[in-house]
Order: sequence, then C-alpha cells, then structure tokens
Amino acid sequence: MTMITPTFYSHDYAFDVSSEDELLGFFRERDESKVIFRSSLELPMRVQYYFTWSDPSGAYRYLIFKKPGWESPRGLVFRTGGSSGDSGTGGICDWCHSYGSSNQIGLLTTSVNSKRTVGMMLCLDLSCGEKIESNPVTTSKDPETRILQVCERMGRFFDELNS
Ligand SMILES: [Zn+2]
Repeated sequence: MTMITPTFYSHDYAFDVSSEDELLGFFRERDESKVIFRSSLELPMRVQYYFTWSDPSGAYRYLIFKKPGWESPRGLVFRTGGSSGDSGTGGICDWCHSYGSSNQIGLLTTSVNSKRTVGMMLCLDLSCGEKIESNPVTTSKDPETRILQVCERMGRFFDELNS
C-alpha cells in the first residue's frame, strides 16, 4: 500500500483522493451529473477531515467525507437556496452550531430519492471546520474534537438518508 504523503493524523476520518475520476466515484450515480469540478482542485490530495466545494454558479455545494469503518469516502450534493421560509434572520448551523446571518447559514437540501428531499440548516459554504478552528475557544473541548463531532454528524446524516 502506498501513501500519498507521510502525514498521519490521530483520527480515522482522513483520506486520500488521487484523481477527479476517483472523486466522482464517491457520489451516488444519480448525483454524478450534478458534480462540476473547479479547475483549482489540486490532486492528489490528503483530506484531514472533509472536503467541500461549490459549482461555479453556487447552486450546488459538494461534500466529501469518510466515516471510520467506511471503505471509501462518500459524497453528497446539496442544493443551496432552497425555500427556508427566508425571514432573513439567519440561524444556527446544525453541524457546528455557529450562528450566522441568512447569507451565512441557510437551508441545504439533498435528495434521498426521486420523491423525497431533506434539508438541514447549515453553514452555506460548509466552512464548519474552519469556523471551529478560527473561533476563540468557547468550550473546554479542543478544536479537533469539535471538528470530529461535525464529521460524526455528517456521518449520521448520511446514514439517515440511506436507512
Ligand atoms: Zn457549520
């Protein structure tokens, strides 16, 4: 087995991505047509927690992450700008619990199947990890622990979608 970089992390959420083809393979077949890559992706890469980007129009937000025990990472395609009963008051991200205005926190939706769509209030750019890292410590837990909790919530969300 070859490692891309000799970087090791103290947790099992990290993963490697070697190519766009591999990245695309993490998504469900039905979502693949919605995935648009940006030329700025630098591959291969090692992902410490999760990886996210958006399509050029900002209509879609992509998320790649890997739960410990999964053989490979999985991808989710979220639609941004869903009807959130937008009152312009903002909200709290379900994953990292950051508070923000309505252009920072909003409803991201993803399809379960052709009939059902589910949504969550989330940081619209899924910058949960960065927010935790840049936030002054407000709890006794260190940033890594809190980011791993976000990854755990992502995994739970994914499991619920597919249960
Ligand atoms: Zn968040």
